[in-house]
Amino acid sequence: MNICTEEISRGNLSLGVLLDVTTLVGEELFQFGTEEQKRKWLVPIARGEKVGAFGLTEAEAGSDAGATRTTAVPDGDEWVINGTKQFITSIGLDNASIVVITARTKTRGIGKGDVINTFIVPKNSPGFTLGKKYDKMALTHSATHECIFEECRLPKDNFLGKEGKGFSQHLAALQTGRISIGACSVGLAQACFEAALKYARERVQFGKPIYSYQGVSFKLADMAMHIELARTMVLKAAWLKDNNLPHALEASYAKLYASEMCEKCASDAVQIHGGYGLMNEYPVSRYYKQCKALQIVEGTSEIQRIVISRNLG
Ligand SMILES: Cc1cc2nc3c(=O)[nH]c(=O)nc-3n(C[C@H](O)[C@H](O)[C@H](O)COP(=O)(O)OP(=O)(O)OC[C@H]3O[C@@H](n4cnc5c(N)ncnc54)[C@H](O)[C@@H]3O)c2cc1C
Repeated sequence: MNICTEEISRGNLSLGVLLDVTTLVGEELFQFGTEEQKRKWLVPIARGEKVGAFGLTEAEAGSDAGATRTTAVPDGDEWVINGTKQFITSIGLDNASIVVITARTKTRGIGKGDVINTFIVPKNSPGFTLGKKYDKMALTHSATHECIFEECRLPKDNFLGKEGKGFSQHLAALQTGRISIGACSVGLAQACFEAALKYARERVQFGKPIYSYQGVSFKLADMAMHIELARTMVLKAAWLKDNNLPHALEASYAKLYASEMCEKCASDAVQIHGGYGLMNEYPVSRYYKQCKALQIVEGTSEIQRIVISRNLG
């Protein structure tokens, strides 16, 4: 899967991130869903007929994702959801079927004993509307919206996983997402490298292709080496996951290293293009904007460093 995500991101990062998000929603349903939930929601996502969205971030709960204010209150055979999730990838697509959200539930009296649970919210649920599509500098093909829940009613069966474990379930799924964002980063860095190598071979200055100057070719040598290292880190984290071994640390290593490496490759690719690097007709100007998203989504670089430092013992 991560090899596909890398290749697709090399051509179109928005599509790579779409794959990442729908995969992590599929992972959450696979790990924590009932058989019935898997049949109903996971199978169409796994077949690629439907796309899943992941609803964690809120206005006051970004990096501090546990500060969620969205509430879920039981009412007879239903749950009633109120709150707003923001920056939700893919939910605006016509074939988006569900968003899996976290919401706070008071189980043991007002003011204490709040727990975070996860819920499967179908896109056509009463009381669920989308805010306007965000106008972004990157991932412009990705339909990112606010999700607004006003007295949104869900059947009891849409509760996902275990009572009180919703936040840790969502974070476990995010580990998969971090590996995918690492793969997206490797793919975009590879695109930067290929564009810069082609340009360096074609562009002549001082009577020779600029590739013949070490100031340029050493940048390309470093790009190739760092891309290879990041790819290996992504594949190692994916291998650990596939073998049911702990991989939180390796997922954060891969996401952090690959996304920061990608930003450096994008910057060097623009540099190698000189003034043309700033022109919209050259893809590297777009890559330079795109790469920033990878250091922010699914936990910023700072949050990855927090995860890594906590795992150092
Ligand atoms: C294009 C796009 C798509 C997205 N898609 C989704 C999605 O599908 N689902 C979803 O739930 N979310 C999504 N997000 C949200 C994304 O995960 C958050 O933007 C991200 O987690 C950061 O949260 P924030 O924007 O509130 O920044 P903040 O948390 O406000 O952070 C601002 C800055 O402060 C730093 N910071 C915060 N806390 C600390 C700390 N303790 N120590 C050091 N530094 C800190 C951050 O690293 C950052 O540099 C998306 C965002 C974007 C831009």
